[in-house]
Amino acid sequence: MARRPYRAAPKGGEFALIDRFTRALPQGGEGVVLGIGDDAAVLRAPAGEDLVATVDAVVEGVHFDARHAPADVGWKALAVNLSDLAAMGARPLWALVALGVPLGTPEARLAGVARGLAACARRHRIAVAGGNVSRAAELSLTVTVLGAVEPGRALTRSGAAAGDLVAVSGTFGEASLGLRPGAPPAFTRRQRRPAPRLALGRALAGIASAALDVSDGLVQDLGHLCAASGVGAIVDAVAVPVSGAYRRAVAGAPPEDALAPALTGGEDYELVVAIPPARLPEAEAAARATRTPLTVVGRLVRGRAVRVVGPDGRELPLPAGHDHLRAPPPSLTSRRGRLGSTRRRR
Ligand SMILES: [Mg+2]
Repeated sequence: MARRPYRAAPKGGEFALIDRFTRALPQGGEGVVLGIGDDAAVLRAPAGEDLVATVDAVVEGVHFDARHAPADVGWKALAVNLSDLAAMGARPLWALVALGVPLGTPEARLAGVARGLAACARRHRIAVAGGNVSRAAELSLTVTVLGAVEPGRALTRSGAAAGDLVAVSGTFGEASLGLRPGAPPAFTRRQRRPAPRLALGRALAGIASAALDVSDGLVQDLGHLCAASGVGAIVDAVAVPVSGAYRRAVAGAPPEDALAPALTGGEDYELVVAIPPARLPEAEAAARATRTPLTVVGRLVRGRAVRVVGPDGRELPLPAGHDHLRAPPPSLTSRRGRLGSTRRRR
């Protein structure tokens, strides 16, 4: 693919800032005909595939503040978008980045954001193909990611049926515990550097009946899948996978408090998938092939409610979910209102 690296180095101010910011980013890659530096990027869609698009913003004072390393802010702004593509079973190709910058923002802070963004883009082999910088009251980063999926294979939220199994990737709760003062560095890292489950999502396309990624908490996000599919769910709380470090961190807490971060904490960026029972062996093979833990935690049932059954077999009372549009958010890093992602239904 022809690609023209961005080389303009104008004198000062906004243009110099854009130049320094973009220089850190990986700009070339599959389908990038013309990247950063012109009025618009020219991108060649993969032949015979559908494009998948999503956008998400992180805003200072809402999603992060001065306590967050700028590189973590850059990483996470891209990673959460990649997690949405993972949940669609898509492979990511390109990102577009719009930066809002207050006057007087230290250069080092922007360089850090660019560094984190670049590290995440390189890790997942995608190009940053365009962007924009604007003056703003708060530092903000709005990232659009485009990816591709074979026609008819996109995983949606709406394809599940009663009787399907509910399975999840990885482990839950560390990201939420990572918000607590004095949290172990591994938990804080889980919170600030989420790892999108792209390989598993792609491998489950064509096998799972529905999927989404967990940003707001396992129970609440499973509720979104259930609402879209017109089913209810029963989750076995004890089956929800947690790490040994998580168990140690909640040791001694009452059972419901010990389970809450895993069930409702959010920001795990793991996948929740529905799997028709006959396809479980294929799903497990996909998990092994991508070296991603996959655990069955419940099943979908007729009705509407998501019920969580505790160790004693009784239903657990759960706190109400987080509503992005009602203040105040439970934490600065609690995530996103979903207003704009376009999701095509099968
Ligand atoms: Mg999502």
